[in-house]
Amino acid sequence: MKKSAILLIYTGGTIGMKVDEDLQALTPFDFSQILDEVPELKKFAYRIDSYTFSPLIDSSDVEPSLWVSLADLIERKYDDYDGFVILHGTDTMAYSASALSFMIEGLTKPVIFTGSQLPIGSPRTDGKENLISSVEIAAAKDEDGHALVPEVCICFDSILMRGCRTSKMNADNFRAFRSENLQPLAEAGINIRYNTAIILKPSDWDARPIFRKNLDTRVSILKMHPGITPQIVREILCSSDTRAVIIETYGAGNAPSKEWFLETVKNADAMGKIILNVTQCIAGSVNMDIYATGKCLKDIGVISGYDSTTESALAKLFYLMGVCQDNATVKDLLKLNLRGEISK
Ligand code: ASP
Repeated sequence: MKKSAILLIYTGGTIGMKVDEDLQALTPFDFSQILDEVPELKKFAYRIDSYTFSPLIDSSDVEPSLWVSLADLIERKYDDYDGFVILHGTDTMAYSASALSFMIEGLTKPVIFTGSQLPIGSPRTDGKENLISSVEIAAAKDEDGHALVPEVCICFDSILMRGCRTSKMNADNFRAFRSENLQPLAEAGINIRYNTAIILKPSDWDARPIFRKNLDTRVSILKMHPGITPQIVREILCSSDTRAVIIETYGAGNAPSKEWFLETVKNADAMGKIILNVTQCIAGSVNMDIYATGKCLKDIGVISGYDSTTESALAKLFYLMGVCQDNATVKDLLKLNLRGEISK
């Protein structure tokens, strides 16, 4: 049987650092030496090639242009590899994984994001386990030779999560990511246990995916909080620079019932803005039918983000607005579950 081939794509972040003995400081690690540095990978008998982005970045510097470059690279190399592992800083990994989830339509191979809280060169690093599990998952196939997880995922601390369902939740411990509204796609213990019932499959394994690289980033996020002023709300909701606004509301999608607030939302809607409601809660869903405060938003034309993460809502808007010029179509598509990002 042909050896599985994995492309390891290195963008930066903590995982790729190791202590330079001369400098006594953390410096980026040369991934062309990956098999020497992580010899455990040799035991897999996979072909593992690497591609390093330049410059390597802390993921706080990630821009949508990186997502376009990643999509472009995966598109160019798609036929040469069975799976892709992307090493990425943890800070914005959930945004990047969400973006790639939407940008690749009809994915038939795994695209696994991973990173670490401690550099791979550090004795207690979580990077090796994260990397090794990610590579194994990226190469895993069923008896028909199809990928076990043909999705964009984040693999971290032995848990495989759907990329567009994940948020960074912890800046200190090894369980940096959570996917509160969806169970893990797999868990790595003594064996890797796949939750095959919820892993998405392409409608046609033989069709080449479509890579959508046109993103419209004219989106802003309004986070509600007690004390927010009419002026701030107006500036964010009615700015001429935005085509869409995500409102991070309270609880099940509730916002203030004050007249100035509802009038501003109405004005933004009348200006043609796409307004999407996601909850600030870590788990659970927007339901604008429960409370009067949510109903008012629904009546104005605010779209429910259901149980979407903010990261995923942002990526979905960038993608849909890049594909469709017409806001009415974007609003209709926002309501659909496109990549397993909402429970609907
Ligand atoms: N600041 C780093 C980054 O996101 C943190 C990490 O990689 O864990 O690039």
